[in-house]
Amino acid sequence: MVAKPRISFEYFPPKTEAGREKLLNETTPALNELNPEFFSVTYGAGGTTRDTTLGVVSAIGATGIDVAPHLSFGGDDEETVAALLETYRERGIKRLVALRGDMPSGMGAAMQLVHANDLVGFIRERTGDHFEIEVAAYPEIHPESRSYDSDIQFLRKKLDAGANSAITQYFYNVEAYFYYLDQCAAAGIDKPIYAGIMPITNYQNLARFSRNCGAEIPRWICQRMESYGDDLDSVRKFGLEVVTQLCQTLIDSGAPGIHFYTMNQVEPTREIYNNLGL
Ligand code: FAD
Repeated sequence: MVAKPRISFEYFPPKTEAGREKLLNETTPALNELNPEFFSVTYGAGGTTRDTTLGVVSAIGATGIDVAPHLSFGGDDEETVAALLETYRERGIKRLVALRGDMPSGMGAAMQLVHANDLVGFIRERTGDHFEIEVAAYPEIHPESRSYDSDIQFLRKKLDAGANSAITQYFYNVEAYFYYLDQCAAAGIDKPIYAGIMPITNYQNLARFSRNCGAEIPRWICQRMESYGDDLDSVRKFGLEVVTQLCQTLIDSGAPGIHFYTMNQVEPTREIYNNLGL
């Protein structure tokens, strides 16, 4: 029998008060009924959402739900990051997603980005084993990587620095994920690498975003999506079919878990989840 995969749900911090209310009072209770292991909340490039991420994480955490803030140094110094870690610890947060992050748009090269392995080491140095730490992994390889193997070596470095597991960038090529797992295992990585899954709702936005983050949308999916044009209902239905099949293959083939990039929406994730009979 295939073991039930770990399920987690990712949010971004809403920009408006109405968005925040909806996320806390409607979206979270609805998604929490699906029994995820935890929720996570992203961190704006350069620490631009430091307060809103903290606010959303604290509000969800206060209801007793396990929630993980994403964190990067951004442009902050060690004491600012240490203070944020302490606040999370005081508020009962036990899990973090540790990242290098990207340069905020308009910053040029003005900011020195701190690699995720250094952040993981810093968190362990300052807070010991308090936090369960997740890091990012890239089955289709991070766009700035020198090579396929170096990206795996740097994943290993983050895990060796004390991270407990990794969550991948989203992908639609399931072979890329399983090949990556094999290569990671061959490189001595024995910690779980959970599959990041992005439901397809708005194809144009997804295509634009994917070009920047190095996630490939296979040609056959692009062709099909483009043939639907403005017929959003068909886009939604086809997206649901493709991503359900992707998740089913992952589960059948023993992926340790699935992290849904929910985009703060209930329906796409819940429909996939129900289709899978989880
Ligand atoms: P790193 O692990 O530091 O890697 C970045 C690049 O540098 C890679 O090419 C790697 O091969 C190389 N590298 C790694 N370590 C070293 C080293 N020690 N020396 C030299 N080169 C090195 N972005 C946000 O802004 N906010 C978020 O909340 C957020 N959440 C994410 C969640 C997940 C699950 C994923 C997969 C990505 C997320 N991102 C987020 C995007 C992420 O910040 C970007 O992909 C960023 O460009 C890399 O971050 P990283 O932590 O993977 O960096």
